[in-house]
Amino acid sequence: MSAGRPAPELPEPLSPILDAHTHLDACGATDAASTAAIVDRAASVGVGRVVTVADDLAAARWAVRAAHWDDRVFAAVALHPTRANALDDDAKAELERLADDPRVVAVGETGLDYYWPGKLEGCADIETQIEGFRWHIDLAKRIRKPLMIHNREADHDLLTVLLDEGPPDNVIFHCFSSDTNMALSCVAEGYVLSFSGTVSFKNAHELREAAKVVPDDQILVETDAPYLTPHPFRGAPNEPYCLPYTVRALAELRGQDPVELAKITTANARRVYRI
Ligand SMILES: [Zn+2]
Ligand SMILES: [Zn+2]
Repeated sequence: MSAGRPAPELPEPLSPILDAHTHLDACGATDAASTAAIVDRAASVGVGRVVTVADDLAAARWAVRAAHWDDRVFAAVALHPTRANALDDDAKAELERLADDPRVVAVGETGLDYYWPGKLEGCADIETQIEGFRWHIDLAKRIRKPLMIHNREADHDLLTVLLDEGPPDNVIFHCFSSDTNMALSCVAEGYVLSFSGTVSFKNAHELREAAKVVPDDQILVETDAPYLTPHPFRGAPNEPYCLPYTVRALAELRGQDPVELAKITTANARRVYRI
């Protein structure tokens, strides 16, 4: 676990919840036992299933293995947009093979990240990211699995490339962080918006307004653990067991019963991921 604040206490159980996007390897899982320990902790508060997401090839291989170790774990594989410059022919061949695995429920996280180019050493430039994004969209369509999108400061180009390429049947915007206009554009296209702990941050005014306009059948919840720990544990290490804090914050924002929202988001995840 990272230094800094201690791990958040266990929340009051809330069931059923499915964590639509997490990184179990980055949470410290290495083998079947450490993976089961994290999912056991989550299950003890109602988070019975998780989708663990890869952002490079090593993480993709690991995610598929983890999904075979534990039937509560599902995988998503892709190269993160910041790593799109590693998408050579060998990487494409391996990703295609991994994505085809029955335990893989989405192609992701892919998309566009306009924050890191120029700031992060070795980060793919925008042109390379767009090319990589197009390839992942095509892969998702070929294998008929959902596309899981990472979007940082790239609202306009994301929507444009998706429409230009033609989106797959199911598109998920993971850790939706944009404003109401973007939320309404995504909703109109039939995309699904997944909310993380950031929606519980009181100063995230635009995001919190956006979360109110998403229809019940287009909403998911996720931790993106070990990042983005919900209020009031911001800065502490996140894990799938922390998801009830986010669901309760989101339910309050939307004027919904938390148990009802847990049921709705779990039903949506099961429909979109076909699990
Ligand atoms: Zn992301
Ligand atoms: Zn992520």
